Amino acid sequence: MVTQVKLLPTPEAVADRAAELLVDAIAAKPNLVMGLSTGGTMLGVYQRLVEAFRQDKVSFHRATVVNVDEYVGLSSDHPQSYASYMREHLFRHVDVDPRRAYIPDGAAIDPDQEAQRYEGLIEALGGFDVLLLGLGSNGHIAFNEPGSPAGSRTRVVRLSPSTLQANRRYFSPGEEQPSSAITIGLGTILTARRIFVVATGTAKSAAVNAMLTGAIPADCPAAMLANSPNVQLLLDDAAGYRWREKAAN
Ligand code: PGA
Repeated sequence: MVTQVKLLPTPEAVADRAAELLVDAIAAKPNLVMGLSTGGTMLGVYQRLVEAFRQDKVSFHRATVVNVDEYVGLSSDHPQSYASYMREHLFRHVDVDPRRAYIPDGAAIDPDQEAQRYEGLIEALGGFDVLLLGLGSNGHIAFNEPGSPAGSRTRVVRLSPSTLQANRRYFSPGEEQPSSAITIGLGTILTARRIFVVATGTAKSAAVNAMLTGAIPADCPAAMLANSPNVQLLLDDAAGYRWREKAAN
């Protein structure tokens, strides 16, 4: 069992709590190395971090920010790249130092080499103090799809059909959607000193249930985190209901 599963009533309450945890982590260690993720779930979290910055409750100036994944084939200025997402939803609103904000280069000529470089960078930074992760409806964390090796490090992966389907909504009709990505590995994730996993909505409830009820990581990569004392899982009612009902029976 994850040491801490926090069930909150709404997605808003989950975003409030996740942002609070990050603000507290930065207050405790202003020069921390913070791993960040993209996706719909994180939008509320970043909105709250921007609000906290505007209210002088947090500064990112001394922090190092390391994103967990990027699409292969999209340059950082492509509107659907995760680099653009981070700029749009967080970086341009706060005082993150661009010299200490990292994301894999999706346009690298040799993506495998770029993945290796990125893993080396994380190591050189001393690993993540805090890592913020979403949860895929298929149980993926970062882009570690089902079947990812437990000890995997940053590498190029093919996205599963269910992930491509889930993320299709972010691309306009006719727009080409990348089928592979550079992602930090499950082994990389396990080196983080604290991990916050955030999941909201019924689409995540099966993955949450699998994660917490002993699925094997080959089927649900997030299950790797189910026994880690340094993991906190933040769920709204909709994401947690299947697990809660099962736990009650
Ligand atoms: P989502 O993505 O927040 O857009 O649902 C989460 C994930 O796939 O990690």
